[in-house]
Amino acid sequence: MRRSQPALLFFACCAFALTTAPLHAQGQRPAGTGATIRAGEQCPPGMTEVRPRNCQPPTLPAPSIVDYRPRSTLVAPVHTVPRAKFPAIDFHGHPTNQLNSEAGLVELGAALDGLNVRMMIAANNTSGDALVRQMAVVRASPTMRDRVRILTGVNFAGVGPGWAAKAVAQLEADVEAGAVGIGEIGKGLGLSMRKSDGSRLQIDDPALTPLWNAAARLKLPVFIHTADPQEFWQPIDNANERWLELALFPGRRYPADQFPSFETLMKERDNLLRNNPRTTFVIAHLGWHANDLGRLAKMMDEMPNLHAEVGAVLYDIGRQPRAAHDFFVRYQDRILFGKDSFQPEEYPYYWRVFETRDDYFDYYRDYHASWKLYGIDLPDMVLKKVYFGNALRITSRLPQGGWPR
Ligand SMILES: [Zn+2]
Repeated sequence: MRRSQPALLFFACCAFALTTAPLHAQGQRPAGTGATIRAGEQCPPGMTEVRPRNCQPPTLPAPSIVDYRPRSTLVAPVHTVPRAKFPAIDFHGHPTNQLNSEAGLVELGAALDGLNVRMMIAANNTSGDALVRQMAVVRASPTMRDRVRILTGVNFAGVGPGWAAKAVAQLEADVEAGAVGIGEIGKGLGLSMRKSDGSRLQIDDPALTPLWNAAARLKLPVFIHTADPQEFWQPIDNANERWLELALFPGRRYPADQFPSFETLMKERDNLLRNNPRTTFVIAHLGWHANDLGRLAKMMDEMPNLHAEVGAVLYDIGRQPRAAHDFFVRYQDRILFGKDSFQPEEYPYYWRVFETRDDYFDYYRDYHASWKLYGIDLPDMVLKKVYFGNALRITSRLPQGGWPR
């Protein structure tokens, strides 16, 4: 139902009329508990539109959205996909302790084997001594030496005179130590980081240009997470798609008086991509535009250096199976698989969305989405590119041998 236009609000408040005779005459509810509305208006709180313009409250107390878990009675084909159809590279890996010891790597390898994830790219911003240590563990591993690679981090503290030269020198040292790219640059860039002069560090600040130039020169993809889902900037009311998440995690709210707006951050990010066309960027979480693939398509068309990663936005891909299918086919050379938070039992939801035509199945995290998912049924050629081909192409330092053709 559409929301009322502002001009109608005054009338909306006065238009509720108690007791709608026709419904009462049908014996559907006791008198005096309903309301009528005008076309385009919403029912008052606690009521639902049971017939055009006739509102009625339930006769039982309504369950909260936390507890309402209806059983689906839909009987439809089910194709669970525990292992990806083709070996995958997780471009958005966040292993925790697994990279610190051979035992940890072996444990990681066992979990990845069960999913057919052949390679994990650790996007933990690991730089300096920590990177050297982890790469030594990886290189010494008989079974995992070609299955883990690491993105280096950038220390954005104190951006100002002298910062860029230090950052580029550290980047070169980290590449020497084995880093294959940069990332994940976190949302703090743009949202909260400050320059040495105290001002907010904008994503498109020219002081960062030498870093992006170095990434282009060293052929390092830059993996960057900007902002968060746009609902995190909206009022936490009954119309907010992410009400539950915002209520669970108050730190995800971005009040306008404390943070730049969603659109400000998107604009700065787009400037970054435009201003550095020789640098390869991978925007995490489909740039938080999985809910607006037309917008992402425009960006893809305008900026050939842009790639996008799918982690943690499966709920938006799987709720628009036809549009998502077409988007993935059209931009098949620009989309990378990545999972984000390392929870092995969650990967098969991605395989099922990407590989099947299944209808209306559960997603793994209620607080991301109150809806079900549908398979987008990608052709094998597209799956191969999304699962591993695109990551291999844009990350020349990855072990390139042994992948399917
Ligand atoms: Zn991440």
